[in-house]
Amino acid sequence: MSHLILKDVNKVYPNGFHAVHDFNLEINDGEFICLVGSSGCGKSTTLRMIAGLEEISSGEFYIDGKLANQMSSRERGIAMVFQSYALYPHLTVYENLAFGLMLEGIDADIIEEKVQATAKILGLTDYLERFPRQLSGGQQQRVAVGRALIRKVNIFLMDEPLSNLDAKQRVTMRSEIKQIHRGIGATTIYVTHDQTEAMTMSDRIVVMKLGVVQQVGTPFELYFYPRNLFVAGFIGEPPMNFLNGKVENGKLVLEGDDENPLDVSPIVKDVAALEGREVVFAFRPEGIVLAKEGEDAPEGYAFTSEVELTELLGDITNVYATVDGKNTILKVNPHDTPARGTQCKFVVPFKAAYLYDKETELAVESDIVRH
Ligand code: ADP
Repeated sequence: MSHLILKDVNKVYPNGFHAVHDFNLEINDGEFICLVGSSGCGKSTTLRMIAGLEEISSGEFYIDGKLANQMSSRERGIAMVFQSYALYPHLTVYENLAFGLMLEGIDADIIEEKVQATAKILGLTDYLERFPRQLSGGQQQRVAVGRALIRKVNIFLMDEPLSNLDAKQRVTMRSEIKQIHRGIGATTIYVTHDQTEAMTMSDRIVVMKLGVVQQVGTPFELYFYPRNLFVAGFIGEPPMNFLNGKVENGKLVLEGDDENPLDVSPIVKDVAALEGREVVFAFRPEGIVLAKEGEDAPEGYAFTSEVELTELLGDITNVYATVDGKNTILKVNPHDTPARGTQCKFVVPFKAAYLYDKETELAVESDIVRH
Protein backbone atom coordinates (compact mmCIF):
# COMPACT_ATOMS: atom_id res chain seq x y z
CA MET A 1 0.00 0.00 0.00
CA SER A 2 1.17 3.49 -0.69
CA HIS A 3 0.32 7.00 0.29
CA LEU A 4 0.35 9.42 -2.67
CA ILE A 5 0.46 13.18 -3.00
CA LEU A 6 -0.04 15.16 -6.19
CA LYS A 7 0.89 18.80 -5.70
CA ASP A 8 0.07 21.44 -8.34
CA VAL A 9 0.56 18.84 -11.07
CA ASN A 10 0.23 20.13 -14.64
CA LYS A 11 0.47 18.50 -18.02
CA VAL A 12 1.29 20.50 -21.11
CA TYR A 13 1.71 18.26 -24.15
CA PRO A 14 4.55 18.99 -26.59
CA ASN A 15 2.03 20.59 -28.98
CA GLY A 16 1.28 23.14 -26.25
CA PHE A 17 -2.07 21.68 -25.18
CA HIS A 18 -2.60 22.18 -21.44
CA ALA A 19 -4.40 18.94 -20.54
CA VAL A 20 -4.23 19.01 -16.71
CA HIS A 21 -4.26 22.18 -14.57
CA ASP A 22 -2.91 22.34 -11.00
CA PHE A 23 -4.08 18.91 -9.92
CA ASN A 24 -3.92 18.58 -6.12
CA LEU A 25 -4.81 15.41 -4.26
CA GLU A 26 -3.64 13.38 -1.30
CA ILE A 27 -4.50 9.68 -1.57
CA ASN A 28 -4.44 7.58 1.58
CA ASP A 29 -2.92 4.13 1.94
CA GLY A 30 -5.26 1.55 0.43
CA GLU A 31 -7.80 4.07 -0.77
CA PHE A 32 -9.93 3.44 -3.89
CA ILE A 33 -10.10 6.68 -5.89
CA CYS A 34 -12.05 7.23 -9.11
CA LEU A 35 -11.19 9.95 -11.59
CA VAL A 36 -14.40 10.72 -13.43
CA GLY A 37 -15.48 13.18 -16.11
CA SER A 38 -16.44 13.39 -19.76
CA SER A 39 -14.15 12.18 -22.50
CA GLY A 40 -11.11 14.43 -22.94
CA CYS A 41 -11.18 15.99 -19.44
CA GLY A 42 -7.69 14.75 -18.56
CA LYS A 43 -8.37 11.57 -16.57
CA SER A 44 -6.05 9.30 -18.55
CA THR A 45 -3.36 11.95 -18.72
CA THR A 46 -3.42 12.23 -14.91
CA LEU A 47 -3.32 8.45 -14.52
CA ARG A 48 -0.46 8.12 -17.00
CA MET A 49 1.54 10.75 -15.09
CA ILE A 50 1.01 8.73 -11.91
CA ALA A 51 2.07 5.58 -13.78
CA GLY A 52 5.24 7.19 -15.09
CA LEU A 53 4.10 6.76 -18.71
CA GLU A 54 3.78 10.50 -19.22
CA GLU A 55 6.11 13.17 -17.95
CA ILE A 56 4.81 15.61 -15.33
CA SER A 57 5.26 19.08 -16.87
CA SER A 58 5.27 20.89 -13.53
CA GLY A 59 4.34 20.10 -9.95
CA GLU A 60 5.32 17.29 -7.64
CA PHE A 61 4.26 13.69 -7.22
CA TYR A 62 5.19 11.87 -4.01
CA ILE A 63 4.95 8.17 -3.19
CA ASP A 64 5.24 7.51 0.55
CA GLY A 65 6.90 10.87 1.04
CA LYS A 66 9.48 10.39 -1.73
CA LEU A 67 9.50 12.63 -4.78
CA ALA A 68 8.59 10.29 -7.63
CA ASN A 69 8.51 12.60 -10.69
CA GLN A 70 11.59 10.99 -12.17
CA MET A 71 11.03 7.39 -11.00
CA SER A 72 10.39 4.68 -13.60
CA SER A 73 7.07 2.81 -13.50
CA ARG A 74 8.85 -0.17 -11.98
CA GLU A 75 10.42 1.91 -9.20
CA ARG A 76 6.99 3.32 -8.41
CA GLY A 77 5.61 -0.17 -7.63
CA ILE A 78 2.70 0.25 -10.00
CA ALA A 79 0.57 -2.15 -12.02
CA MET A 80 -1.86 -0.95 -14.64
CA VAL A 81 -4.92 -2.42 -16.37
CA PHE A 82 -6.08 -0.84 -19.62
CA GLN A 83 -9.37 -0.75 -21.46
CA SER A 84 -8.14 -3.20 -24.06
CA TYR A 85 -7.22 -6.43 -22.30
CA ALA A 86 -4.12 -6.87 -24.49
CA LEU A 87 -3.92 -10.59 -23.73
CA TYR A 88 -1.61 -12.75 -25.82
CA PRO A 89 -4.05 -14.68 -28.03
CA HIS A 90 -1.72 -17.63 -28.63
CA LEU A 91 -0.99 -18.16 -24.92
CA THR A 92 -3.24 -19.91 -22.42
CA VAL A 93 -4.64 -18.12 -19.38
CA TYR A 94 -1.89 -19.75 -17.32
CA GLU A 95 0.80 -18.52 -19.70
CA ASN A 96 -0.75 -15.05 -19.91
CA LEU A 97 -0.64 -14.80 -16.13
CA ALA A 98 2.87 -16.22 -15.91
CA PHE A 99 4.39 -14.27 -18.79
CA GLY A 100 5.71 -11.25 -16.90
CA LEU A 101 7.18 -13.39 -14.14
CA MET A 102 8.87 -15.67 -16.69
CA LEU A 103 10.51 -12.65 -18.30
CA GLU A 104 11.85 -11.68 -14.89
CA GLY A 105 13.44 -15.14 -14.66
CA ILE A 106 11.52 -16.18 -11.57
CA ASP A 107 11.66 -19.89 -10.58
CA ALA A 108 8.99 -22.09 -12.16
CA ASP A 109 7.67 -23.37 -8.81
CA ILE A 110 7.25 -19.83 -7.48
CA ILE A 111 5.48 -18.87 -10.72
CA GLU A 112 3.19 -21.90 -10.33
CA GLU A 113 2.34 -20.83 -6.79
CA LYS A 114 1.63 -17.24 -7.79
CA VAL A 115 -0.46 -18.16 -10.83
CA GLN A 116 -2.57 -20.55 -8.76
CA ALA A 117 -3.05 -17.98 -5.99
CA THR A 118 -4.01 -15.21 -8.44
CA ALA A 119 -6.33 -17.51 -10.38
CA LYS A 120 -8.03 -18.41 -7.11
CA ILE A 121 -8.64 -14.75 -6.18
CA LEU A 122 -10.13 -14.12 -9.62
CA GLY A 123 -12.10 -17.33 -10.00
CA LEU A 124 -9.99 -18.43 -12.98
CA THR A 125 -8.74 -21.75 -11.63
CA ASP A 126 -10.91 -23.77 -14.01
CA TYR A 127 -9.87 -21.74 -17.03
CA LEU A 128 -6.09 -21.85 -16.81
CA GLU A 129 -5.69 -24.11 -19.86
CA ARG A 130 -8.04 -22.10 -22.07
CA PHE A 131 -7.04 -19.56 -24.69
CA PRO A 132 -8.42 -15.98 -24.51
CA ARG A 133 -10.81 -16.59 -27.43
CA GLN A 134 -12.46 -19.34 -25.38
CA LEU A 135 -13.37 -16.89 -22.61
CA SER A 136 -16.19 -14.34 -22.19
CA GLY A 137 -15.33 -10.63 -22.16
CA GLY A 138 -15.62 -10.57 -18.37
CA GLN A 139 -13.28 -13.55 -17.98
CA GLN A 140 -10.74 -11.96 -20.34
CA GLN A 141 -10.85 -8.80 -18.28
CA ARG A 142 -10.25 -10.85 -15.15
CA VAL A 143 -7.14 -12.33 -16.76
CA ALA A 144 -5.98 -8.80 -17.57
CA VAL A 145 -6.54 -7.80 -13.93
CA GLY A 146 -4.77 -11.00 -12.86
CA ARG A 147 -1.72 -10.17 -14.95
CA ALA A 148 -1.45 -6.86 -13.14
CA LEU A 149 -2.16 -8.41 -9.73
CA ILE A 150 0.34 -11.21 -9.95
CA ARG A 151 3.22 -8.84 -9.40
CA LYS A 152 3.12 -7.62 -5.85
CA VAL A 153 2.46 -3.90 -6.21
CA ASN A 154 1.44 -1.14 -3.88
CA ILE A 155 -0.41 0.94 -6.44
CA PHE A 156 -3.01 -0.38 -8.83
CA LEU A 157 -4.09 1.81 -11.76
CA MET A 158 -7.06 1.07 -14.01
CA ASP A 159 -8.06 2.98 -17.11
CA GLU A 160 -11.70 2.31 -18.12
CA PRO A 161 -11.19 -1.43 -17.55
CA LEU A 162 -14.85 -2.32 -17.99
CA SER A 163 -15.80 -0.32 -21.05
CA ASN A 164 -15.56 -3.28 -23.44
CA LEU A 165 -18.01 -5.34 -21.40
CA ASP A 166 -21.78 -5.48 -21.76
CA ALA A 167 -23.97 -3.83 -19.12
CA LYS A 168 -24.54 -7.00 -17.10
CA GLN A 169 -20.88 -8.01 -17.04
CA ARG A 170 -19.94 -4.48 -16.00
CA VAL A 171 -22.15 -4.70 -12.93
CA THR A 172 -20.65 -8.07 -11.96
CA MET A 173 -17.05 -6.92 -12.53
CA ARG A 174 -17.69 -3.76 -10.53
CA SER A 175 -18.30 -5.72 -7.38
CA GLU A 176 -15.52 -8.20 -8.22
CA ILE A 177 -12.98 -5.40 -8.53
CA LYS A 178 -14.16 -3.97 -5.21
CA GLN A 179 -13.75 -7.36 -3.59
CA ILE A 180 -10.27 -7.80 -5.06
CA HIS A 181 -9.39 -4.35 -3.76
CA ARG A 182 -10.60 -5.30 -0.29
CA GLY A 183 -8.52 -8.48 -0.50
CA ILE A 184 -5.22 -6.98 -1.67
CA GLY A 185 -5.58 -3.51 -0.16
CA ALA A 186 -3.44 -1.77 -2.82
CA THR A 187 -3.99 1.94 -3.25
CA THR A 188 -6.16 2.05 -6.37
CA ILE A 189 -6.83 4.79 -8.89
CA TYR A 190 -9.55 4.01 -11.38
CA VAL A 191 -10.46 6.11 -14.42
CA THR A 192 -14.00 6.07 -15.80
CA HIS A 193 -16.42 8.34 -17.63
CA ASP A 194 -19.30 6.45 -16.00
CA GLN A 195 -20.59 8.17 -12.88
CA THR A 196 -22.44 5.03 -11.72
CA GLU A 197 -19.16 3.10 -11.74
CA ALA A 198 -17.50 5.88 -9.77
CA MET A 199 -20.38 6.13 -7.28
CA THR A 200 -20.52 2.40 -6.60
CA MET A 201 -16.79 1.64 -6.32
CA SER A 202 -14.99 4.60 -4.81
CA ASP A 203 -13.95 5.65 -1.36
CA ARG A 204 -13.59 9.09 -2.91
CA ILE A 205 -14.29 10.51 -6.36
CA VAL A 206 -12.43 13.24 -8.23
CA VAL A 207 -14.69 14.96 -10.78
CA MET A 208 -12.76 16.63 -13.62
CA LYS A 209 -13.76 18.99 -16.41
CA LEU A 210 -11.42 20.42 -19.08
CA GLY A 211 -8.35 19.40 -17.09
CA VAL A 212 -9.53 21.06 -13.88
CA VAL A 213 -10.65 19.26 -10.71
CA GLN A 214 -14.21 20.31 -9.91
CA GLN A 215 -14.74 18.50 -6.62
CA VAL A 216 -13.20 15.74 -4.54
CA GLY A 217 -15.40 13.85 -2.11
CA THR A 218 -17.05 10.63 -1.06
CA PRO A 219 -19.91 9.42 -3.28
CA PHE A 220 -22.23 10.63 -0.53
CA GLU A 221 -20.74 14.14 -0.47
CA LEU A 222 -20.83 14.49 -4.25
CA TYR A 223 -24.40 13.30 -4.49
CA PHE A 224 -25.87 15.38 -1.66
CA TYR A 225 -23.55 18.38 -1.74
CA PRO A 226 -22.38 19.05 -5.32
CA ARG A 227 -20.35 22.23 -5.07
CA ASN A 228 -21.03 23.52 -8.59
CA LEU A 229 -23.43 23.12 -11.49
CA PHE A 230 -21.15 20.77 -13.40
CA VAL A 231 -20.91 18.25 -10.56
CA ALA A 232 -24.64 18.63 -9.86
CA GLY A 233 -25.41 17.74 -13.47
CA PHE A 234 -22.77 15.02 -13.80
CA ILE A 235 -23.49 12.93 -10.70
CA GLY A 236 -26.88 11.21 -10.61
CA GLU A 237 -28.94 9.43 -13.22
CA PRO A 238 -31.24 10.77 -14.64
CA PRO A 239 -29.52 14.12 -14.07
CA MET A 240 -30.61 16.92 -11.78
CA ASN A 241 -33.32 19.29 -13.00
CA PHE A 242 -32.30 22.91 -13.45
CA LEU A 243 -34.73 25.85 -13.58
CA ASN A 244 -33.40 29.34 -14.29
CA GLY A 245 -34.50 32.30 -12.26
CA LYS A 246 -33.57 35.60 -10.65
CA VAL A 247 -33.72 36.86 -7.09
CA GLU A 248 -35.91 39.99 -6.92
CA ASN A 249 -37.10 41.69 -3.73
CA GLY A 250 -35.77 38.80 -1.66
CA LYS A 251 -37.72 36.17 -3.61
CA LEU A 252 -36.79 33.80 -6.40
CA VAL A 253 -38.71 34.42 -9.61
CA LEU A 254 -38.42 31.44 -11.94
CA GLU A 255 -38.32 32.02 -15.69
CA GLY A 256 -41.81 31.56 -17.10
CA ASP A 257 -43.53 32.07 -13.74
CA ASP A 258 -43.74 35.66 -12.46
CA GLU A 259 -46.83 34.85 -10.43
CA ASN A 260 -45.36 32.60 -7.75
CA PRO A 261 -42.07 33.93 -6.40
CA LEU A 262 -40.36 31.40 -4.12
CA ASP A 263 -39.18 32.18 -0.62
CA VAL A 264 -35.66 30.81 -0.67
CA SER A 265 -34.78 31.90 2.87
CA PRO A 266 -35.22 28.33 4.24
CA ILE A 267 -32.48 27.02 1.92
CA VAL A 268 -30.11 29.99 1.67
CA LYS A 269 -27.87 31.49 4.35
CA ASP A 270 -27.84 35.06 3.06
CA VAL A 271 -30.74 35.94 0.77
CA ALA A 272 -29.84 39.63 0.69
CA ALA A 273 -26.48 38.80 -0.92
CA LEU A 274 -28.39 37.23 -3.83
CA GLU A 275 -30.49 40.28 -4.63
CA GLY A 276 -30.57 40.84 -8.38
CA ARG A 277 -28.51 37.68 -9.12
CA GLU A 278 -29.40 35.16 -11.76
CA VAL A 279 -29.59 31.73 -10.18
CA VAL A 280 -30.41 28.13 -11.00
CA PHE A 281 -32.96 26.31 -8.87
CA ALA A 282 -32.15 22.59 -8.91
CA PHE A 283 -33.60 19.33 -7.65
CA ARG A 284 -32.99 15.67 -8.33
CA PRO A 285 -35.69 13.61 -10.09
CA GLU A 286 -35.84 11.38 -6.99
CA GLY A 287 -35.87 14.32 -4.57
CA ILE A 288 -39.51 15.20 -5.19
CA VAL A 289 -42.63 14.04 -3.36
CA LEU A 290 -45.78 13.54 -5.35
CA ALA A 291 -48.66 15.52 -3.81
CA LYS A 292 -51.63 13.23 -3.36
CA GLU A 293 -55.22 14.13 -2.53
CA GLY A 294 -55.85 14.03 1.20
CA GLU A 295 -52.20 13.48 2.13
CA ASP A 296 -49.96 16.02 3.81
CA ALA A 297 -47.07 17.11 1.59
CA PRO A 298 -43.73 17.93 3.25
CA GLU A 299 -42.62 21.54 3.61
CA GLY A 300 -41.07 22.71 0.39
CA TYR A 301 -41.75 24.14 -3.04
CA ALA A 302 -44.95 23.05 -4.78
CA PHE A 303 -45.12 22.76 -8.56
CA THR A 304 -47.67 21.70 -11.12
CA SER A 305 -46.51 20.13 -14.33
CA GLU A 306 -47.96 18.70 -17.47
CA VAL A 307 -47.04 15.02 -17.95
CA GLU A 308 -45.56 14.46 -21.42
CA LEU A 309 -44.27 10.93 -21.20
CA THR A 310 -43.79 8.19 -18.63
CA GLU A 311 -41.26 5.35 -18.55
CA LEU A 312 -42.07 2.45 -16.28
CA LEU A 313 -38.76 0.86 -15.27
CA GLY A 314 -40.26 -1.52 -12.72
CA ASP A 315 -38.89 -0.22 -9.44
CA ILE A 316 -39.51 3.35 -10.51
CA THR A 317 -41.31 5.41 -13.17
CA ASN A 318 -39.55 8.31 -14.88
CA VAL A 319 -42.05 11.08 -15.58
CA TYR A 320 -41.10 13.60 -18.25
CA ALA A 321 -42.98 16.79 -17.49
CA THR A 322 -42.90 20.51 -18.27
CA VAL A 323 -42.42 22.87 -15.35
CA ASP A 324 -42.62 26.58 -16.16
CA GLY A 325 -42.02 25.71 -19.80
CA LYS A 326 -38.89 23.70 -19.02
CA ASN A 327 -38.44 19.94 -19.48
CA THR A 328 -37.93 18.12 -16.21
CA ILE A 329 -37.71 14.52 -15.09
CA LEU A 330 -39.37 13.22 -11.96
CA LYS A 331 -38.96 9.78 -10.45
CA VAL A 332 -42.13 8.42 -8.92
CA ASN A 333 -43.33 5.17 -7.40
CA PRO A 334 -44.68 3.06 -10.32
CA HIS A 335 -47.99 2.67 -8.48
CA ASP A 336 -48.40 6.46 -8.60
CA THR A 337 -47.58 6.83 -12.31
CA PRO A 338 -49.63 9.80 -13.57
CA ALA A 339 -51.37 9.56 -16.95
CA ARG A 340 -49.92 11.35 -19.97
CA GLY A 341 -51.45 14.77 -20.53
CA THR A 342 -52.61 15.17 -16.92
CA GLN A 343 -51.40 17.77 -14.44
CA CYS A 344 -49.08 16.35 -11.85
CA LYS A 345 -48.55 18.13 -8.53
CA PHE A 346 -45.32 17.60 -6.67
CA VAL A 347 -43.28 19.14 -3.89
CA VAL A 348 -39.54 19.71 -3.74
CA PRO A 349 -38.83 19.45 0.02
CA PHE A 350 -36.41 22.10 1.32
CA LYS A 351 -33.70 19.50 1.92
CA ALA A 352 -33.93 18.42 -1.76
CA ALA A 353 -33.78 21.95 -3.19
CA TYR A 354 -30.49 23.45 -4.40
CA LEU A 355 -29.56 26.92 -5.56
CA TYR A 356 -26.59 27.79 -7.77
CA ASP A 357 -25.26 31.18 -8.82
CA LYS A 358 -25.58 31.26 -12.59
CA GLU A 359 -22.47 33.36 -13.15
CA THR A 360 -20.01 31.61 -10.80
CA GLU A 361 -21.83 28.24 -11.18
CA LEU A 362 -21.12 27.66 -7.47
CA ALA A 363 -23.64 26.39 -4.93
CA VAL A 364 -25.18 29.19 -2.89
CA GLU A 365 -24.25 28.79 0.77
CA SER A 366 -26.84 26.87 2.75
CA ASP A 367 -27.28 25.39 6.22
CA ILE A 368 -29.59 22.66 4.99
CA VAL A 369 -28.76 19.11 6.09
CA ARG A 370 -29.65 17.08 3.05
CA HIS A 371 -29.77 13.53 4.34
P1 ADP B 1 -9.72 11.51 -20.83
O1 ADP B 1 -8.93 10.36 -20.32
O2 ADP B 1 -10.42 12.27 -19.74
O3 ADP B 1 -10.67 11.14 -21.94
P2 ADP B 1 -7.17 12.44 -21.85
O4 ADP B 1 -6.35 12.58 -20.62
O5 ADP B 1 -6.94 11.25 -22.70
O6 ADP B 1 -8.72 12.59 -21.48
O7 ADP B 1 -6.95 13.73 -22.75
C1 ADP B 1 -7.09 15.03 -22.23
C2 ADP B 1 -6.88 16.03 -23.34
O8 ADP B 1 -5.51 15.99 -23.76
C3 ADP B 1 -7.72 15.76 -24.57
O9 ADP B 1 -8.16 17.00 -25.08
C4 ADP B 1 -6.76 15.09 -25.53
O10 ADP B 1 -7.09 15.36 -26.86
C5 ADP B 1 -5.44 15.75 -25.15
N1 ADP B 1 -4.28 14.87 -25.41
C6 ADP B 1 -4.12 13.59 -25.01
N2 ADP B 1 -2.93 13.09 -25.42
C7 ADP B 1 -2.31 14.10 -26.09
C8 ADP B 1 -1.05 14.23 -26.76
N3 ADP B 1 -0.18 13.22 -26.79
N4 ADP B 1 -0.77 15.42 -27.34
C9 ADP B 1 -1.64 16.44 -27.29
N5 ADP B 1 -2.85 16.39 -26.68
C10 ADP B 1 -3.17 15.23 -26.09
